[in-house]
Amino acid sequence: MEPVAYFFSHLQEKCCSVCGQKLWEQAESYATECLDCHEKLLHPQEEK
Ligand SMILES: [Zn+2]
Repeated sequence: MEPVAYFFSHLQEKCCSVCGQKLWEQAESYATECLDCHEKLLHPQEEK
């Protein structure tokens, strides 16, 4: 097993803390939620 592949496999396994959807590297860098849940947390009163 290569250390780099192992590292990235763990990043891709990270999941949204709200809905459980898998998070990818772009979201993982700044949030523990997926993009949809992150927006809802920022604007909870906009839910229709
Ligand atoms: Zn989510």
